[in-house]
Formats: sequence, structure tokens, C-alpha cells
Amino acid sequence: MRRMKIDELLSATSFDVGEGSPHIVIDPQACRTCPSERACELSCPAQRYKWDEVKDVMAFDYVGCLECGNCRLVCDRLFTGAEGYSWNYPENGSGVTYRFG
Ligand code: SF4
Ligand code: SF4
Repeated sequence: MRRMKIDELLSATSFDVGEGSPHIVIDPQACRTCPSERACELSCPAQRYKWDEVKDVMAFDYVGCLECGNCRLVCDRLFTGAEGYSWNYPENGSGVTYRFG
């Protein structure tokens, strides 16, 4: 059986994203001084966080977020709402729609 990549798996799930109004915000440059050893990368099941070696910043894409809350738990800045960081659920009616069966 072929192992699917994360983007293929996510494409089977539907997302209604508020363009221009991300529900999770990070400061990509400030992530250079991450006190949590970039735990967001390992904790995100949807692989939304990726360290950009060329630009030396954290690349993050809220589209495809599964709203599991892991990144909020492992990142002190997201958890406390530090300057440049915030974590919220998407506004009513938007975000991920899980398909069962
Ligand atoms: S854990 Fe938080 S501060 Fe650290 S890299 Fe990830 S988003 Fe940035
Ligand atoms: S809430 Fe979960 S799926 Fe969404 S970005 Fe954070 S760890 Fe990834």
C-alpha cells in the first residue's frame, strides 16, 4: 500500500478558512529565539510548521490546521499570547470539517 503524504491526506478533508484572518498567529522572526526548541514542528500532526533554513524563520500556514491545540500546549508564546503570537479557534462556521466513515 502506498503511504500518502500529509498534503494528500489533508486534501481529503475540507477547510473553510477565513482568508486574511488567521486563527493562529506567530512571529516568524521571533521564533529564532524559541524557548521551546521549536516543539511546534514535532507536535503538529498536519505539519503546518516548518523551519525555513534559507530565510532563518519559522514558516507557518494556518490553512490545513486540524485545530488539535497541540502547538498551543507546547509553545509558551502561543499559550500565553505573547506579543506577536495568538491562538484561537476559527470563527463560527469556519475551519476544518472532519469527514467520518
Ligand atoms: S514553539 Fe512557538 S516560539 Fe518556538 S518556533 Fe514554534 S511557534 Fe515559534
Ligand atoms: S492546532 Fe494542531 S493542527 Fe493546528 S497548527 Fe496547531 S498543532 Fe497543527
